[in-house]
Amino acid sequence: MMGNHTIGNRKVAIIGAGYVGSSIAYALALRDIAREIALVDIDQEKTDGEAKDIRHGLPSMGTADLYVGSYSDCVDCDLIIITAGRNRRQGETRLDLTNDNVKIIRSVADSIKTNYTRGVILVISNPVDILTYKVAQWMGLPDGMVFGSGCILDSSRFVRSIADYVGLSTGVIHGYVIGEHGDGQVPVWSRVTVGGIPIDEYCSTTGLEWNKSIRDAISGKTKKMGAEIIAAKGRTHYGIATCVCQIADAILNMRPTIVSVSSVLMGEHGCRGVALSVPSVVGSSGVQMRIREKWTPEEYRGFFDAVEKMRNTLVYLDGDNQI
Ligand code: NAD
Repeated sequence: MMGNHTIGNRKVAIIGAGYVGSSIAYALALRDIAREIALVDIDQEKTDGEAKDIRHGLPSMGTADLYVGSYSDCVDCDLIIITAGRNRRQGETRLDLTNDNVKIIRSVADSIKTNYTRGVILVISNPVDILTYKVAQWMGLPDGMVFGSGCILDSSRFVRSIADYVGLSTGVIHGYVIGEHGDGQVPVWSRVTVGGIPIDEYCSTTGLEWNKSIRDAISGKTKKMGAEIIAAKGRTHYGIATCVCQIADAILNMRPTIVSVSSVLMGEHGCRGVALSVPSVVGSSGVQMRIREKWTPEEYRGFFDAVEKMRNTLVYLDGDNQI
């Protein structure tokens, strides 16, 4: 178990006030998860508009002090959320963003580092697993203090799809997607439960049709959901903003949780030197533990393929394209 420390002022800085950053600010403010939210972006005018738009609704709901800040507002934050960088265009994979966003996030990390005093750093920008690894390397903080949203959104989409299939509310479905937040994601079917009952047993007991092609259809739908939303509206931002609330609440309000998020592996499942998602205990000091649960051989194969894919991308970045 890694270190734990007490939280003071529930202060959050959001770096990048585009669709994702502003939606996160809005969701955190509505749910009163943070006391202070600084929005930091190179586009001051747009950020000012976003901050005003959110602030104008707060008298009727929420008490957060939300304002346009600068990198100096990273001082004394409990949580710094990185959403800067460009998003996917239709037809692009998240890894296609690597060259552009590694450069942007390098300058973001340098500016944070100059003003950093304490707190957890949460990476949202894509490709989130690559950027999480790089930010962790650049910041040099203790294990787990830098982590990425990783597969929390994929897990949420997975649970949503299963709930729709079994016709129950999402609250009774437990399941995770692990590996890459991208095409190398692995749904852990062997661990899915419905009301605490393994899903295979639940379906056979209740007479619900259940077989590999139904599972494959749900897994495929989960993987394609992000691309489908981008094809339909050009971006995704509400889903991730909601997921970030769960993470921020765990960090700011002492409500430790277990979510599938991305952090640098330190020998779990025999892997190190990459950041990928596994179910992790998240609390005030970030990822406090990566849970070493057992998977099926097929699930392990998928996870190891993702490890290999991430390693190759990191090797590429460390080579001629060094940033
Ligand atoms: P966006 O273009 O709306 O916003 C990006 C913002 O970053 C812009 O406002 C831009 O001015 C700002 N920016 C650029 N360089 C900066 C710097 N050096 N310092 C401060 N701000 C800077 O994009 P978006 O739709 O908000 O997406 C942001 C990122 O989030 C993308 O990389 C996208 O792929 C990613 N994303 C991740 C998830 C996830 O689940 N992890 C989900 C959705 C989107």
